Amino acid sequence: MPKAKMAAGQRILRDRITPSVTAEGEVPMPGSRGSVSGPSRIRQATKERRVVGRPQVMEKDPVHNRAENLSLALEALRQALGEEWATDSPSILCGYARDQGMQPAAYAHIVCMPGSTEDVQAVYRVANEYLIDIMPYGTGLSTVGAHFPMYGGLMMDLRRMDRIIELDGEDMFAVIQPGINFLMLQAAAQQVGCRLLNPSTAATAGVISNHLFCNINTMSSKYGFGMDNIIDVEVVLPTGEIVVTGPASYGAVKGHVAGPGPDVSTLWRYALGTLGTVTAMTVRLYPEAPFHAQVFPCYEEDRLDVVADALYLVAQDNLSLELAHLMNSFYGIFMGETNAEASKLAELMPRHNLLTIFGGETEEEAELKASVTQRSLEEHFPMMDYLPAEALLDLTEDNEYVDFEKWVKFFNVTCRVMRVRGSFFIGALIDKIENMAPVEKGMRVACTNQVGTTDDPLAPDDASTYLQPYHMGRSAYLEYDMYTNQADKDDLIRIMMGYGRATGGAMAKGMVFAAGLTALIKGIPGAELALSVARPNIIPLLKVFTEFKMALDPNNISNRRWDYDTGAVKKISLF
Ligand SMILES: Cc1cc2nc3c(=O)[nH]c(=O)nc-3n(C[C@H](O)[C@H](O)[C@H](O)COP(=O)(O)OP(=O)(O)OC[C@H]3O[C@@H](n4cnc5c(N)ncnc54)[C@H](O)[C@@H]3O)c2cc1C
Repeated sequence: MPKAKMAAGQRILRDRITPSVTAEGEVPMPGSRGSVSGPSRIRQATKERRVVGRPQVMEKDPVHNRAENLSLALEALRQALGEEWATDSPSILCGYARDQGMQPAAYAHIVCMPGSTEDVQAVYRVANEYLIDIMPYGTGLSTVGAHFPMYGGLMMDLRRMDRIIELDGEDMFAVIQPGINFLMLQAAAQQVGCRLLNPSTAATAGVISNHLFCNINTMSSKYGFGMDNIIDVEVVLPTGEIVVTGPASYGAVKGHVAGPGPDVSTLWRYALGTLGTVTAMTVRLYPEAPFHAQVFPCYEEDRLDVVADALYLVAQDNLSLELAHLMNSFYGIFMGETNAEASKLAELMPRHNLLTIFGGETEEEAELKASVTQRSLEEHFPMMDYLPAEALLDLTEDNEYVDFEKWVKFFNVTCRVMRVRGSFFIGALIDKIENMAPVEKGMRVACTNQVGTTDDPLAPDDASTYLQPYHMGRSAYLEYDMYTNQADKDDLIRIMMGYGRATGGAMAKGMVFAAGLTALIKGIPGAELALSVARPNIIPLLKVFTEFKMALDPNNISNRRWDYDTGAVKKISLF
């Protein structure tokens, strides 16, 4: 591994900032203080929306991302990638400063767009030379501000790398670059009789970044989450070196059997850019069933223990292709084009619904699987209702905005759409399926009795839950969504406090915090301590991660969060 290069960054003069920057190190936004004199509508609106200046200096005494180094790095990037592929223009940077979550905006200093693995290597070389932090950027849809650079630096947008390198419908895998999104790969896979595990995020979400992050999909009872379906990766390490994992690393035919071991393909799962950038990945595909059938078990009572038992039964039978419980409010969000439509649909649907989709090579096969499951459910859960398909058709025909065809496509053919209620915050993985009910209950109580006030609590119906079995019901996922107004600071604080409290309680009942945020929690004093108390077995994992990080990223430039000297973060961020 090449020696780390600290010299260039340390040589640069301290704290010199460009003249347009204020004493607080912020670049005034148009219409904000300093740029407009006298009363102005824009200034008033800016004030009301609490728009702040774009910070240029994000650390009191920066070693990384120093103003002088940034301009040298920008020049070097332009030379390496081409003039048009690196910029520090505020109008471009602001497009990367938010996601659909509730984190306040965070700005990078530079955005660059490499077009190849070699370009990514060049970007890391420049970043090491000038000590600039790098944040690999997939599509910026994480909802937890995962791509927000804590201290600014370089946003490395990978969307130009948009090739499907190999697509094999017979052995059912695809080798892709990070710019490939779900819509692109799903469309290509369908051409060869396959499909991929599509989560209910936007069709524009990156397949690689989503698989690295988790990929929670409604087929997870049968096939697992996307993260279980990574065959191998090509990674550019923070030092600029390339690592290839899995069968491809020793020239073997791409197979689905891992090894020979040790196989480090999963090292970058949940590393979230802290250990380098994945520049190619092989993911599993699955056969596309030509025929589908559905049954519609539903339940009006708020008894999630009953719902969890029913899910377990269907999961263990393993006949269904897609399986999840959706609250009426979730159907609303999926199907409605607007908030008004979503609310209307939520009113029309039964409170709890089991989404069960069966696939078959023939219509008869799909129908048979559906009817066997329905009979088994009716026998064990006589308290539930079983809607005939016609009832759903009637419902959708009476409300022309809900198109049944579209509904079926959402769930079993295409990628999903964005939800409509603005920003939201989500739940977590659960160790055992039966723990979903108490965890959900705890979350609902915590979130409806807000910390510090009982005024204007979240109405229970404002929050949506869905439950789904994972790996034939061995484990489970609970999504608990709360909706916030991104522009309302008070609303954000309220949700954050409620969510923090709900999460603490839920962890005591078996919640596994989104499985992989350890890399982002490292160094946050309270969070690291709380995590270690709630899950003592996380301590060795944190130690190993720390060792890996320091070995693979000697200059601490790839998604830098905590300082190597102190082991602590300089700045608190939610994740
Ligand atoms: C409305 C909505 C619904 C959603 N529903 C679902 C759902 O059902 N299931 C689900 O799984 N997710 C869901 N999500 C979450 C979201 O889509 C995924 O978490 C998302 O794919 C991750 O964001 P991204 O792909 O845009 O990556 P980004 O936000 O760009 O990046 C996330 C993190 O990964 C790192 N990263 C990105 N690319 C690379 C790379 N090539 N190499 C190394 N590190 C990299 C980044 O540095 C960052 O730390 C939803 C999101 C929204 C907005």
